[in-house]
Amino acid sequence: MEIRKVGVIGAGQMGSGIAHVCALSGYDVALNDVSDERIEAGLATINGNLARQLKSNRITQDQRDTALGLISAGATLGDLGDCDLVIESAVEDEAVKRQIFTALCPTLKEGALIASNTSSISITRLAATTDRPEHFMGIHFMNPVPLMDLVELIRGIATADEVFTVAKGFVSSLGKTVAVAEDFPAFMVNRILLPMINEAVYTLYEGVGTVDAIDTAMKLGANHPMGPLQLADFIGLDTCLSIMQVLYEGLADTKYRPCPLLVKYVEAGWLGRKTQRGFYDYRGDEPVPTR
Ligand code: NAD
Repeated sequence: MEIRKVGVIGAGQMGSGIAHVCALSGYDVALNDVSDERIEAGLATINGNLARQLKSNRITQDQRDTALGLISAGATLGDLGDCDLVIESAVEDEAVKRQIFTALCPTLKEGALIASNTSSISITRLAATTDRPEHFMGIHFMNPVPLMDLVELIRGIATADEVFTVAKGFVSSLGKTVAVAEDFPAFMVNRILLPMINEAVYTLYEGVGTVDAIDTAMKLGANHPMGPLQLADFIGLDTCLSIMQVLYEGLADTKYRPCPLLVKYVEAGWLGRKTQRGFYDYRGDEPVPTR
């Protein structure tokens, strides 16, 4: 099981970051999304982020050019047929992920590995929608992928030991550190992080503090590099809500009830940085709190 070519499904914040770090580590990459426009947007993001790394001397011109040359657009899932590993990083919606795996499997070569970058959904359940549960893993990157060192690895109930070992080697080859989590809702990082973010939204909802006061309190009072509402905007409020729903339903505990104000922002389409508006409005020079 040697990994040379990696397919990435979903060219959003995470998928473009995953494609970026894979190409910088020398892997061939095929990037897929629902439309050519989305793929182009993902490629433009990678280009911009590589340019930033070059400017700050973290990579050389040669590394940048080589990485860009290794990434191709995979307009259809059929274009991922020669990949040794496919990492699914589409929206955090189980129905969408199931559809992707059902369509993907017949196009893959025998023995190819599949991984999901899901933040919260059961790896065992996703694996069961494929024709190869023993070749399926959770490989959960952190945002922004080029900067964050951690990757959570999650085995499904059927994941073969050899597949886990290959996935671990692959993550190490990207220069990332592995933390192994059991397959329970939201794994480790988001099991701890998202209830805190949800509680920050409740704190806002109940009028205990403003957006600015809550973020300042947690930055200066708990020494967090970012306030929880700023972080929620960074993750994407739709993703935050989906993770809370998976925790709430998966653990059947009311302490994970998503805050109604978080639901309202998502219903408004105010999803955070990626739509220019969330708990902050990013359309001007400086982010302005929306409450
Ligand atoms: P995003 O909204 O930035 O991107 C999602 C992309 O998936 C979009 O480009 C969309 O067009 C694409 N997509 C939707 N349906 C598709 C389909 N059928 N086929 C191909 N592509 C499709 O979201 P994101 O933040 O990149 O999150 C992607 C995944 O990564 C989610 O599972 C999320 O939980 C996980 N994740 C997110 C973060 C984070 O901080 N945002 C961190 C770790 C993991």
